[in-house]
Amino acid sequence: MDIIVQKYGGTSVGDVKRIKRVARRILSSHQRGIFLVVVVSAMGQTTDRLIRLTRAITASPSQREMDMLLSTGEQVSIALLSMALHELGVDAISMTGMQSGIITDNRYSMAKIKGIKSEPLLSQLKRGKVVIVAGFQGVGSGKQITTLGRGGSDTSATALAVALGARCCEIYTDVDGVFTTDPSVVPGARKLDFISYEEMVELAGAGASVLHPRSVEIAMKYQVPLAVLPSYMEGGGTVVTEGKTLEKVVITGMTVNRNIAKVGIRGIPDRPGIAARVFSALGRHGINIRLIIQSMAEDGRNDISLVVNQEYVKSAVQVLQKQKSALKAKEIVHQTHFAEVSIVGSGIASTPGVGARMFRILAKEKINIELISSSEVRITCVIEERKAVTALRALHKEFRLEKLQRRTRS
Ligand code: ADP
Ligand code: ASP
Ligand code: MG
Repeated sequence: MDIIVQKYGGTSVGDVKRIKRVARRILSSHQRGIFLVVVVSAMGQTTDRLIRLTRAITASPSQREMDMLLSTGEQVSIALLSMALHELGVDAISMTGMQSGIITDNRYSMAKIKGIKSEPLLSQLKRGKVVIVAGFQGVGSGKQITTLGRGGSDTSATALAVALGARCCEIYTDVDGVFTTDPSVVPGARKLDFISYEEMVELAGAGASVLHPRSVEIAMKYQVPLAVLPSYMEGGGTVVTEGKTLEKVVITGMTVNRNIAKVGIRGIPDRPGIAARVFSALGRHGINIRLIIQSMAEDGRNDISLVVNQEYVKSAVQVLQKQKSALKAKEIVHQTHFAEVSIVGSGIASTPGVGARMFRILAKEKINIELISSSEVRITCVIEERKAVTALRALHKEFRLEKLQRRTRS
């Protein structure tokens, strides 16, 4: 069966007019004889609106009820899109995550897909139906509804593409494709025609919201061809592909990740096993740590700094306060309103001096670097959040990304 999975994001199905436009697009693929599975997000800002509603009721909602609530957004858009297709004479059927056999663990708001029982979907496809699947949601044990984390519909789509052995996964969104950086922040950002899986994993992980990080990891692991395309016009787009086929450039893109906070554990004894204890306690509470820095020991004591998303600060501090006396730490401190700026490129590891160049550009803008981390293809600096846009624009200009040519495969 020649299957393609298409995913349409929130803006692309933001109102009735756009839903009808998406339906016409689906019709034209359907007419070409392709078996289509279409994943959709909640309309426009629906998920944000639902989150705001809960705040008017409680500051600490039950996580189960939260997922029950947020999953409704996608249920609205699948039904409306399916009806729009019926109007065009297309035999479509909408299915929730549970009905589509998307099995997850039970970690509400951050569930991971454990597997997909593809039989219900395949049998609908065999009957000639276009299947419209609710993104962002799945089912855990005990038939509990779960969600995959903000932006998770991309991950629903790539996971379905793998499970169904689809020819490719097409992510339709509100920009022309993947750009050198967020085009809504840096007007000179350039669209990339190709990007490697490795670079895209790093860009997404470092905050490029155009693709959910886990969706790229899945596509890379199972070698599913992935494309990011505009939903509002034909053509354009970016193909995410194997790195080896790409021409070499040092820096491919850059990102800003806002809402970052630092948590410090001061004066902790410099002994084996301490870090293991700290991090297992944080891990048990589902706190994701982005970056860890341990300073050099002085008088047998160390400071450990953690970088976390702002949403985890409160619980991280609570967990560490509880551990403080057992750890014999002096104090637990925290600071908010930071951002990470990252530069990403497959040439970073093989090109000396890239880091120094990045730090010089930030120094020229009088931006203080709080923490630095790097991988083979990424360098990240933690800076004050209010300087983030200035930093991104300066880096984009100085690394000459508005001139980047990456149009050909070698
Ligand atoms: P969707 O609702 O379709 O999932 P998202 O808002 O999640 O759309 O992702 C698309 C947005 O990602 C764009 O509007 C753009 O502002 C932002 N973005 C951030 N970094 C990039 C990048 N490098 N390339 C393209 N878009 C980016
Ligand atoms: N509706 C969800 C969100 O806003 C999932 C998604 O759009 O991918 O995060
Ligand atoms: Mg998205």
